Amino acid sequence: MANPSILILAGDGIGPEVMAEVKKIIGWYDAKRGISFDVSEDLVGGCAYDKHGTPLHDDTMAKAQEVDAVLLGAVGGPKYDVLDFSVKPERGLLRLRKEMDLFSNLRPAQCFDALADFSSLKKDVVAGLDIVIVRELTSGVYFGEPRGIFTEGNERVGINTQRYTESEIARVARSAFELARRRNNKVCSMEKANVMESGILWREVVQEIHDKEYPDVELSHMYADAGAMQLCRWPKQFDVILTDNLFGDLLSDMAAMLTGSLGMLPSASLGAPMANGRPKALYEPVHGSAPDIAGQGKANPIACILSFAMALRYSFDLGDEATRLEQAVEKVLADGVRTADLMGPEGGTPVSTSAMGDAVIAALDASL
Ligand code: NAD
Repeated sequence: MANPSILILAGDGIGPEVMAEVKKIIGWYDAKRGISFDVSEDLVGGCAYDKHGTPLHDDTMAKAQEVDAVLLGAVGGPKYDVLDFSVKPERGLLRLRKEMDLFSNLRPAQCFDALADFSSLKKDVVAGLDIVIVRELTSGVYFGEPRGIFTEGNERVGINTQRYTESEIARVARSAFELARRRNNKVCSMEKANVMESGILWREVVQEIHDKEYPDVELSHMYADAGAMQLCRWPKQFDVILTDNLFGDLLSDMAAMLTGSLGMLPSASLGAPMANGRPKALYEPVHGSAPDIAGQGKANPIACILSFAMALRYSFDLGDEATRLEQAVEKVLADGVRTADLMGPEGGTPVSTSAMGDAVIAALDASL
């Protein structure tokens, strides 16, 4: 049987630096665990624009549609700020998400004990936190029509439309319930059913899908504003939070910051199952291309490494290996290995991007 396939799109800025550490880990799985992937690489973002005059070449898009998983680094940088909107680096990423129809965005907020002091919340509120926000990514108010700035009478009016179909709600709900079954079997769905019709429909459809297909999963509903409050007050009450595009945008950023540095946060964007049963999938760190530290060996590769761990779990059914990799990261942090972004007020000597990758490899070796 052919090996599972991965397309690496390292992108711009620190993207290639953090991705280099993931490539080491892919090599480790091949050499030490006999788990091999067919890896190909291509360009996305500013580097693709430099070569092809477009942030995502059609051939790259076609490859992304064929592979089992896409791993992306980051795109963008000041050099490209002057470009026309249609060819900006970010358009490459948006095209991938749109054409692969990646409607379910998984953003874990996991707090490693060694970094609990980094949170702006009290240590006991965040230590051991492990939740995932499932955000609907391809519909809702960011896409609904009508939209625009119009003139009414003698003034302008800005319009965006929150619009969800039943099928759009149902498919992301299924994605959250499936995820919950692999975790602690709890979903909390958040909307504003008290003031929005789209929220009423959201709540009804989520409940229907639950009752018909996932009665074994514990389901609760919360208004999104109350949810934000509860996320700050006691985030450990949640397991999987399911929400729409707009509320998910806000809630996932908030939850992410419960855990400390941007350099630690992975994400997955999943679409419909392909012929082999695996969902279309793109894995990427939450952070951007960090032009302020690019090329200096300072970037923290952990967000990218943890994104690969998500690929092991959600695209390749290698949950035990994903856990092995996450535990290796946990051990490295517990041993006090820190890139510059993880240095606390007590100071110390930060390690480089590649030394952090090497430390994770050493911890993987120790796990055998
Ligand atoms: P950013 O995430 O690139 O950086 C924000 C801050 O966090 C910077 O100080 C940076 O040094 C730090 N940081 C980010 N990742 C880090 C890491 N792995 N290790 C250590 N420190 C890290 O956000 P920005 O500065 O607003 O944007 C820079 C560029 O990235 C822009 O062109 C933006 O459009 C682009 N961007 C891309 C993505 C993406 O590719 N998904 C996401 C956000 C921003």
